Amino acid sequence: MARDFVWHELYDLMEEDNCPVCALIDKRLHQAMDRFLFDSVNDRGLRKKIAEAHGFCNFHAHRLKEMGDPLAHAILYTDFLTQLSAEMRLNKPKKMNAYLAKQGCLFCETAATGEKSYVPVMVEGFADADFVKKYESSGLLCAAHLTQFLEKCKWKPAIAKKIIEINEKKYQHMIAVLSEIKRKNDYQNQHEVWTDEEKNMWKKVVSVMNDLSGIRK
Ligand SMILES: [Zn+2]
Ligand SMILES: [Zn+2]
Repeated sequence: MARDFVWHELYDLMEEDNCPVCALIDKRLHQAMDRFLFDSVNDRGLRKKIAEAHGFCNFHAHRLKEMGDPLAHAILYTDFLTQLSAEMRLNKPKKMNAYLAKQGCLFCETAATGEKSYVPVMVEGFADADFVKKYESSGLLCAAHLTQFLEKCKWKPAIAKKIIEINEKKYQHMIAVLSEIKRKNDYQNQHEVWTDEEKNMWKKVVSVMNDLSGIRK
């Protein structure tokens, strides 16, 4: 497979056993939010689409907030609050289900489109020894992206076997480090110094189980 732009991005984003697919989705999300705040917020058609979705999903609403931009938020949330106010006055909570399960979030769509194209590049990348070497040293697909990866390997058993082997080694190592954290929490061992790896592993394992795309709630 040709080493295209996405191949290189995924390759470069593998560091400290993170999920390269999550990392690229996050990078693109940041760029999309930046563009959105810069010039799309005044796009009436787009704002109507966002209003139809009742704003953004919880994950992306808070991510957008972290980007700053009081004016863009003032414009958007005037729409949202006006809509909420009208719906509230009807006093028909059943018609307000959109607030309980957000559908059609603009940024979820961006993330889903990205995911769909990055996972196959990961699979293709596994036919390249350099790519596998990089994954082995610094990458680890999260559980959701591993699942999608394995789904794409139906006719590529050697690639599935390879990633299972690598991931298994990494999981076992993680479990061993977690076991040390548990042991060092025992009062008899509380004087023992924690390694940097132990200090961080309990957080790292959360990202292995829970992807950072914001798609899966
Ligand atoms: Zn991931
Ligand atoms: Zn979303």
